[in-house]
Amino acid sequence: MPAQTIPGVTVIDHPLVRVKLTLLRSRETTPAQFRQNLTELATLMAFEVTRSLETRTQEVHTPLAPHAGSQLVKPVVLAPILRAGLGMVEGMLHVLSDASVAHIGIFRNEETHQPQSYYFKAPVCLSDAEVIVTDPMLATGGSAVAAIQTLKEGGASTIRYACLVSCVQGIERLRSVHPDVQIFAAAIDPELNERAYIVPGLGDAGDRYFGTVR
Ligand code: URA
Repeated sequence: MPAQTIPGVTVIDHPLVRVKLTLLRSRETTPAQFRQNLTELATLMAFEVTRSLETRTQEVHTPLAPHAGSQLVKPVVLAPILRAGLGMVEGMLHVLSDASVAHIGIFRNEETHQPQSYYFKAPVCLSDAEVIVTDPMLATGGSAVAAIQTLKEGGASTIRYACLVSCVQGIERLRSVHPDVQIFAAAIDPELNERAYIVPGLGDAGDRYFGTVR
């Protein structure tokens, strides 16, 4: 099956998304440009990630007449996986200004090689919320699986996963453990190398966003 039609995965195909992702991929892009474009890309992605959010009627009065408008049924919680996931929060908050933010810290246990949660702080509305996990790169899927497990143990039941670049290996791993979680990505890249980097990818998203490249 072609990668672009994997069930449970929405690849966001839009000219501005493609152009901004290209800028993020380029090694010539400075940390300042990287931050700016990642923020803008996350704002654009928020439109597609939130497309299926449920709304109900909200009556308002315009200066001229009553109007049956819309309001979201459930609160939205953004859940960045530390640290690179933080880079997508600002852009999504531009169009989800009422959202709360849950933080999830995951590290790889050097003995078991398994990802483990070391920090988790979520708003009290988590179990009623539409949760959007953010992490720019869906590589092996290990952190994504662990983060979603942590969220489910914390009571979350409706979860979407938003990344910039994914690969088939990470998608298959995430879908096999959490088939209820819809994945949104700007691209599905062909390879994962032996160091678990996506190729061509964009390098280390956290290092590039936070300017910690050596
Ligand atoms: N994390 C990154 O930042 N980049 C990759 O390619 C894979 C994981």
